[in-house]
Amino acid sequence: MSGVTFHLDATDGTARTGRIETARGTIRTPAFMPVGTAGTVKAMLPESVAATGADILLGNTYHLMLRPGADRIADLGGLHRFMNWEAPILTDSGGFQVMSLAGLRKLDEKGVRFRSHIDGSEHMLSPERSMEIQAQLGSDIAMAFDECPALPADRDRIAASMELSMRWAARSKAAFGAPEGRALFGIQQGGLEKDLRAESAAALVEIGFDGYAVGGLAVGEGQEAMLACLDHAPGQLPEDRPRYLMGVGKPDDIVGAVKRGIDMMDCVLPSRSGRTGQAWTRRGQVNLRNARHAGDPRPLDDACACPACRGYSRAYLHHVVRSGEMIAGMLLTWHNLHYYQELMAGLRAAIAAERFAAFEGEFHGLRAEGDIEPV
Ligand SMILES: [Zn+2]
Repeated sequence: MSGVTFHLDATDGTARTGRIETARGTIRTPAFMPVGTAGTVKAMLPESVAATGADILLGNTYHLMLRPGADRIADLGGLHRFMNWEAPILTDSGGFQVMSLAGLRKLDEKGVRFRSHIDGSEHMLSPERSMEIQAQLGSDIAMAFDECPALPADRDRIAASMELSMRWAARSKAAFGAPEGRALFGIQQGGLEKDLRAESAAALVEIGFDGYAVGGLAVGEGQEAMLACLDHAPGQLPEDRPRYLMGVGKPDDIVGAVKRGIDMMDCVLPSRSGRTGQAWTRRGQVNLRNARHAGDPRPLDDACACPACRGYSRAYLHHVVRSGEMIAGMLLTWHNLHYYQELMAGLRAAIAAERFAAFEGEFHGLRAEGDIEPV
């Protein structure tokens, strides 16, 4: 009766590779999901996003409910048709962004009242309302509505928030029902507390979800604390369902998370960086605003097959970044998303060949060498 089916193809240590089958296509895991916040991955055509190798996109309930509105998108045939993306879409519940973006929040057992960051209008999100909106958007994978406290927070606050999120998870499941071809993921909370995470995982499994997310990380705790939490959190979740780490991250966060048993991730970083002149390569981060690139005829990465690297020099990329030209964001976003998807393909192949450790060593080795020397 599930909306998705997960096939685990191979493991290497705790790292896993497999496939999530949905009505709209296969998601190869570990998967990185580009973020299409407002019905677009900024600066990219949908077919360009697909060309980078992305199997699935993330859409944001909070942004879309405010503008253009979930009713409008439903009337126009759902989010896939509206944004011209035929492959799977995962929508978040809106909870995290209400906490981080909206004004005048009032949270109680029922849900959250807030004001739009766009026009100040008043709105409400609850487990029931979030499920209704995600159904109107027509996402293939919906997320349970939860509360995500910023870290650091004291243990009592984390425990109370986790317990509220588990009550909301049960309400989310009841409101979601069992629609044909759509899946619902639950979200584990509990901050950095191992026992609270275990309690949360048990509560979610009792309710029963198609997949499970590790929530409440990448909220200010730092990479070391996050990876320490991932040493135990994924293993507390069912082995036969996809495990999704929300809002992560930098390339080295991704490698560390996959190593620890995560199957899916999302982050605005590659697209957001691309609009500010920042590129991610096998050799780490490159700032194309830097004057060292002004006369450099070489590509950003001579081993990269993306349009930015095939057709343009570092000097050109530097010029269009410094001139504020739109093509700068287009080319660098494409490169960054391409790099992220190449990284995921490399991880999948390494796990399948049981050579994750070697892959990880090469990944960190090249980054430690740093960018190519200036001309
Ligand atoms: Zn490239």
